[in-house]
Amino acid sequence: MWVRCAPDELELRRKERGWRRVKEAAVCAALMSLFLILVYWERPTRTFNALTPGEEWLSRAPAAIAVGALVWFLLLREKPRPTVICPKCEATKYHDGILVCQFGGRFEKVDELKWVESESLPK
Ligand SMILES: [Zn+2]
Repeated sequence: MWVRCAPDELELRRKERGWRRVKEAAVCAALMSLFLILVYWERPTRTFNALTPGEEWLSRAPAAIAVGALVWFLLLREKPRPTVICPKCEATKYHDGILVCQFGGRFEKVDELKWVESESLPK
């Protein structure tokens, strides 16, 4: 059955989620910067050269890193939509502000719950 996590466990999960978001956004930003440095987009008519010549990498880096930082910032500002679950009937949905389940339960954020086997609960 679904049970609510203890407050210290919730705090730990919250920190892990926050750190994971920072890392995922950083990977996206770094890939964006690398793309802007490595993919050649100026003077495409000269000869087809998909890779920027090495001597231009350094001069492209500041603008590419600035765009990457912007991407990182925008990704971190984006608020994820939490998923909610009804512990009674296990219906799930995105959090839409309506927490009453049509089958009589009450939706809770799935991040704040954990699944435990009924036998392991103290009677
Ligand atoms: Zn329900």
